[in-house]
Amino acid sequence: GKGAAMVTAVAYRLTDQARQIQETLAEFRLSKGQLLEVKKRMRMEIERGLKKDTHKEATVKMLPTFVRSTPDGTENGDFLALDLGGTNFRVLLVKIRSGKKRTVEMHNKIYAIPIEVMQGTGEELFDHIVHCISDFLDYMGMKSARLPLGFTFSFPCHQTSLDAGILVTWTKGFKATDCEGEDVVELLREAIKRKEEFELDVVAIVNDTVGTMMTCAYEEPTCEVGLIAGTGSNACYMEELKNIEIVGGTEGRMCVNMEWGAFGDNGCLDDIRTKYDQAVDENSLNEGKQRYEKMCSGMYLGEIVRQILIDLTKRGFLFRGQISETLKTRGIFETKFLSQIESDRLALLQVRAILQQLGLDSTCDDSIIVKEVCGTVSRRAAQICGAGMAAVVDKIRENRGLDHLDITVGVDGTLYKLHPHFSRIFHQTVKELAPKCDVNFLLSEDGSGKGAALITAVGCRQRELDAQ
Ligand code: BGC
Ligand code: MG
Repeated sequence: GKGAAMVTAVAYRLTDQARQIQETLAEFRLSKGQLLEVKKRMRMEIERGLKKDTHKEATVKMLPTFVRSTPDGTENGDFLALDLGGTNFRVLLVKIRSGKKRTVEMHNKIYAIPIEVMQGTGEELFDHIVHCISDFLDYMGMKSARLPLGFTFSFPCHQTSLDAGILVTWTKGFKATDCEGEDVVELLREAIKRKEEFELDVVAIVNDTVGTMMTCAYEEPTCEVGLIAGTGSNACYMEELKNIEIVGGTEGRMCVNMEWGAFGDNGCLDDIRTKYDQAVDENSLNEGKQRYEKMCSGMYLGEIVRQILIDLTKRGFLFRGQISETLKTRGIFETKFLSQIESDRLALLQVRAILQQLGLDSTCDDSIIVKEVCGTVSRRAAQICGAGMAAVVDKIRENRGLDHLDITVGVDGTLYKLHPHFSRIFHQTVKELAPKCDVNFLLSEDGSGKGAALITAVGCRQRELDAQ
């Protein structure tokens, strides 16, 4: 009768809806062939960054770091470290003791960087940083000690020595004026001078990936790669100096800060980017830049999810077709929320509670869909990040003319540490795409602080040698 026809119609609408949602998500589900293609393209971009003739136009910059070796345990002394560019801004005191019983003692304080400072003038930003250092030195009672400082600055810098780094471009949420094209070590030294309160000896500028690699290498000498999967995404590794054509010398190795977040900025990933990735890019502070990072780092995953949810809502598949103010708000889905939503232990009711917290009224069906969207987006992130890492470890293996490579990767970052599935899918992908490498992953304990101090220690020692 009529009732049965209506039930059939409703059932049909539901299956049609489910089919359309699956079609939308299918674009994010990459095949092994596609992932191998991502790996191959990353390898190509690595070569372009390393070669003199192509370096200028290359998107993956492969920046030299002037870190020539990993720590050997003889590092010693008291150091200050700054950590700028991750989830928090921190000032640290790191005491490294060499000898039979090596120890590293750390004290640190977290400081907020208000958004107006992140996006104000460079002078304001560096004055704020120095203000925080001043507060920290008071707090530690160390104003008069002229300590050597390592500056972990997690942005692309063109380095010409350990203590000089010209900011190539801001990434993530930063946009302070008058910094791009400038040596940020000089900007810091000038701000310290302006303050006229204390003296410091800025010895090294350090990318967070490099700090992470060094920290892990201090415990595990086979660690020659660093990875950050956090607010941003990037990797570094020990490359043969002869392959780094923009630096002289042919003997030994140097750590290269890949800046792989910019992978795809020349369009080479366009076939796997979706319209949602494009929308995230268009809404960002740096349109057209860091396209790979925008597909696989914590700052943007929630934004991709939000774009998909907006679209599904517009099509009437979610939230009763009503786009709320919350859903229109940039940045609502932070990594910690995605991590909660995707947690296996969470009942759907709890997913709904989280959405409620965010100001989203959901039905039970809505919460199932939202969870699937989150899972699909973060799975792709872990996979393409894994494809990038597979390219790196295979490159190292080939550099050394090996059929098989055993290597350790030091890792840090909120996405890797907090997300319930990211690390597992990432490991799996590396294993599948680089079968000739046995990759061991080591979590870094506070790489940005400890690593910067270790590099500073090596820098100080080198200086003394040079002076002799
Ligand atoms: C920056 C890198 C950094 C990474 C992780 C990216 O946005 O360009 O220098 O290593 O984020 O913090
Ligand atoms: Mg960090």
